[in-house]
Amino acid sequence: MILDRRGAVLGATLLGGALLSSRILPGSAHAQPASARLTTILDGGFSVAVTSAAANRDPKQIRELLQAAGHPTDSASTVLNVSLVRRGSDVILFDCGAGKNFVPGTGKLLDGLTAAGVDPDDVTHVVFTHAHPDHLWGALDDFDTPAFPKARYHVPAAEWDDWFATDVYQRLPEDRHSFAAGAQRILKVLEPVTKRFKPGSEPVPGVLAVAAPGHTAGHCAFELMADGSPTLIGGDAMTHPVISFLRPDWPGGFDADPAQAAITRKALLDRAATDRLRLVGYHLPNGGAGYVERTGAAYRFVQG
Ligand SMILES: [Zn+2]
Repeated sequence: MILDRRGAVLGATLLGGALLSSRILPGSAHAQPASARLTTILDGGFSVAVTSAAANRDPKQIRELLQAAGHPTDSASTVLNVSLVRRGSDVILFDCGAGKNFVPGTGKLLDGLTAAGVDPDDVTHVVFTHAHPDHLWGALDDFDTPAFPKARYHVPAAEWDDWFATDVYQRLPEDRHSFAAGAQRILKVLEPVTKRFKPGSEPVPGVLAVAAPGHTAGHCAFELMADGSPTLIGGDAMTHPVISFLRPDWPGGFDADPAQAAITRKALLDRAATDRLRLVGYHLPNGGAGYVERTGAAYRFVQG
């Protein structure tokens, strides 16, 4: 069940009681000047296994879908797209890239911002979808102080609570313990300049937080008007340009709660297709922006 286009209070009760979105493009979003401009800044990219497009799936099935879509089946890479929104005096970043300490090939956000004419001091808000390393670890500079010293940082409250939960290390496989250590260390540094927000609120006026749990416990997407279009910053709800759309029910390679992530992904895809939202995916190629089209029971990502 999803949403009508304009209701004031709309909701989709999802399995487990999670709420996808309580309001859609509220009046305040429409009231923003149409001059909001969205650009994506490439933080870099790295190689991934072709089969990481989905977890616990027969690699042969994955390769068949990729081949049918004209994608390589022997090697793959992923990119990191930080969304930059300029709107009046607001300069808003959605996520921060991976910094220099996660994997080689990333941490290029500051260079990209410079090329776009943005100084770190210009950034007024940093809004996080979630606190995985490739989204959070670029938040600090080489001196372990905030990379955007004049910005206010915004973190989903449920995400904050999850990374600081006493059982976080028990829940994570050992090879992801660094995710928790990094999240705790960086969020602690940011805490004095951070506000925590809940889905259904606007961490920045005109930017509506949408609950999108599953990839992580507190993962959020965001709706805003940019370049005159209703836009969905999707974070990591859709991470692969083929598999996430053709088989949204398949668990993604890094989803903490695969069943919940699949529910979220299908709901967001349905909504984006129905209402012609422009989708920006953090790991989708060529800047990550495009539209979602229905193809029978599945979906297709059309870049643009
Ligand atoms: Zn990611």
